[in-house]
Amino acid sequence: MATNRTFTMIKPDAVKNGHIGAILAQINEAGFRIVAMKYTWLSAEKAGEFYAVHKGRPFYDELVTFMSSGPIVAAILEKENAVADFRTLIGATNPDEAAEGTIRAKYATSIGENAVHGSDSDENAAIEGSFHFAGTEIFS
Ligand code: ATP
Ligand code: MG
Repeated sequence: MATNRTFTMIKPDAVKNGHIGAILAQINEAGFRIVAMKYTWLSAEKAGEFYAVHKGRPFYDELVTFMSSGPIVAAILEKENAVADFRTLIGATNPDEAAEGTIRAKYATSIGENAVHGSDSDENAAIEGSFHFAGTEIFS
């Protein structure tokens, strides 16, 4: 299978709780290569735009407030079967349902504050990567 890309964010809860290093190590150990990365802080407007697909859902306002509550790490990752393999690595949205050893099982505190984001399709990975990075910030 061809090498491809996914997009991730280490969310404000995991940053605040000091888990950036451990999460990046687990991502590297699972075979993902970082091709772009930045430490940044989303405005409420940018967070709302990023999660616009969830607009109108009951948790949307809470999600936007949370995602703009502190700094995040954004990154584009490369690996064969990147999108699906990364979703496996992070585990289910709700940490109570996340498989043992997954990033969310280890570091998420709740369904809302769940430590990491992972793209859900190749198409969204490309859209989300371009949302955060210019072409000149991606090094493959
Ligand atoms: P992400 O897109 O962040 O990788 P996901 O794809 O596992 O997460 P989505 O359904 O896309 O889950 O939801 C986006 C985010 O919205 C979740 O990661 C979580 O932070 C929040 N969220 C989803 N469902 C709920 C809920 N029922 N209550 C509170 N927050 C929720
Ligand atoms: Mg999602």
